[in-house]
Amino acid sequence: MSRKKRPETVASVWGLRCPHCGADDQLQIQLTTWALLTPGGTIADSHHHDWHDRSQSECLACDHTGIVADFMIDHQRRARRAKGGPS
Ligand SMILES: [Zn+2]
Repeated sequence: MSRKKRPETVASVWGLRCPHCGADDQLQIQLTTWALLTPGGTIADSHHHDWHDRSQSECLACDHTGIVADFMIDHQRRARRAKGGPS
């Protein structure tokens, strides 16, 4: 018997989903990146960017905004447990 491997999702790989609507395929994260400053402007280095728990985040499905930590599934479970709800 072979098991079918579930497709990877943002929720399964990164542990993030919208705390408001539950979507995990419409999340945007504000990045910090490096750019070369030239006389004509900046040239962003798309290979070196960073984000963290406090980076701004937004769900394009419902317009919910917050920080990445708000979108962490573990944080959402802990918050529900603290309120006495289902985990
Ligand atoms: Zn949402």
